[in-house]
This record gives sequence, C-alpha cells and structure tokens, in this order.
Amino acid sequence: MSFIVAIDGPAGSGKGTITKIVGEKLNLVNIDTGATFRCVALNMIQKNVSMNDEENLEKLLKEIDIEIKTNGKIYLNGEDVTKRIRENDVNSLVSPISVIPMVRNRLLEIQRKIAKGKDVIMEGRDIGTVVFPNADVKIYLDATAEERAKRRVLQNKENGIASSYNEVLAGIKDRDKRDSTRKIAPLKRAEDAIYVDTTNMNIENVVKEIVNIIKDKKN
Ligand code: C5P
Repeated sequence: MSFIVAIDGPAGSGKGTITKIVGEKLNLVNIDTGATFRCVALNMIQKNVSMNDEENLEKLLKEIDIEIKTNGKIYLNGEDVTKRIRENDVNSLVSPISVIPMVRNRLLEIQRKIAKGKDVIMEGRDIGTVVFPNADVKIYLDATAEERAKRRVLQNKENGIASSYNEVLAGIKDRDKRDSTRKIAPLKRAEDAIYVDTTNMNIENVVKEIVNIIKDKKN
C-alpha cells in the first residue's frame, strides 16, 4: 500500500520548495506534476506541433516518455530538460495546453504510473480532486498573487533566468484565471484539503506545519 500526500495550489504558492523539503524529511518520493505538463509543452515546441493539430498531438502523447528522477531531475524522451522547461516559451504554452482533454488524460495515466506502489508527495493543481481523490493527506497551499510573483522572480534569478516582476505578476494572474476557470480538472481546493496561507510565513514554518499535519495523519 502506498501513502499519498497531495499538495495543490496556484503558481508560486511554495508547492515546489515545500514539497521537496518535506519529501526529504519524511522519505516520500517527490512528484512535480506541473513538470509533466511542461514536458508536453516543450515537446510540442520541439516537434512544431500546434494545439489544433490533433493527429500529431495524439502521436506525440503516445510516444512521450517522461521521467522524474529521485534527485528531482526531469527527463523528456531521455534528455535532461530540468532547466529548459522553466523558460518563457514553455511558461506561455503550458497553461493553454493543460486544458486539452487528450493531454490531461495521458498525463493522468503517466502521473498515476509514476506514483504506483510508492510513498509519495505529489504537487499540482488537481491532485486531491482528480489524480488521487483518496489521498491520505490533502493540503492546499496559497498566497497572494503579488507575493507569489516576488517568489517566482527570485527563484528564476537563482536558476539563472532573468525576469521582470511586472511580467511575472501578469503571467501568474493570467495562469490563475485560466487554471481555475477551465472546465476539466480546474485548480480548486478539495473539500477535505487543509488550507495553508503562506503569504506571511517563511519556508521553515510552512515545512513545520505540513510535517506536523502529515505525522498526525500517519499516526
Ligand atoms: O506547477 P507549474 O507552474 O510548473 O505548472 C505549470 C502549469 O501546468 C500550470 O499553470 C497548469 O496550467 C498546469 N498544471 C495542471 N495540473 C497540474 C499541474 C500543472 O493543469 N496538476
């Protein structure tokens, strides 16, 4: 039996950072589902497949191979794309393609397969509602759009990617709207998810709170 922790929330809510640290502390495999959507977007760019080209998109999805290594590196068809999937062209395409049913269905299959038989901490938008509605622990992380944009700019800087605050903020607002209003698997807090507002919290405190929530559930 596997133990599943679902962490959902909007872009920049701290999911990535928190999930990584909590996963290491509690020995849970960390699965970033956003990265799987980013891999599809990147593969479409590489193969020049447009959103309306159903035939080639279906083929691309059938052939796609996505690996999430335990060290956090992301491989797309055997190539390390960990950094590449955070660049601007992928940022702009990822949200529009994430509403395509064919893409979501295929990624649902891939995400469940990656988690199979493991104790995992999985982060995304619809983990507690769609991917693992029976997850053992569900947490919804949130923060204001302005705080999230600030964090994203810093994170980009650390990864050697230059970005302006205003552009990042506009992008975040745009993605929030798209992700929460789409018909299939929208970004939504599961009714039984614990809500954590991280706007005025530092990483250490968020980690502490989440570790406690998970430990409580385990016992
Ligand atoms: O988490 P990240 O910002 O990398 O996710 C990129 C995009 O992938 C999101 O804006 C969203 O459109 C999509 N996504 C999704 N469902 C998930 C994870 C990500 O639709 N479970």
